[in-house]
Amino acid sequence: MSNPELHVKIDKLICQGTGYCVRLEPEIFVIGADDLGEVLVDKPDAKYADVLEEAAVLCPTRAITY
Ligand code: SF4
Repeated sequence: MSNPELHVKIDKLICQGTGYCVRLEPEIFVIGADDLGEVLVDKPDAKYADVLEEAAVLCPTRAITY
C-alpha cells in the first residue's frame, strides 16, 4: 500500500554509489546502471519509515530524503 506521507528520493548529484541503502533495504533501493543509488518504490508503506530513517542517517553523503 502506498503512503502519501513518505516520498523517497535520492539526490544523484551527491550520491556516491556506496550501496549502503541497498544492503539495508533492497525492497526500496537499488544500484542503477549509472552505478548510483535509485529508488525502486518512492511512496512505500508507512512500515518502512524506520528503515528509511536509518538509511538516510547511514548514507555517507546524506543523499536520501523521504
Ligand atoms: S547510501 Fe547514499 S551514497 Fe550510498 S548508494 Fe545509497 S544514496 Fe547513494
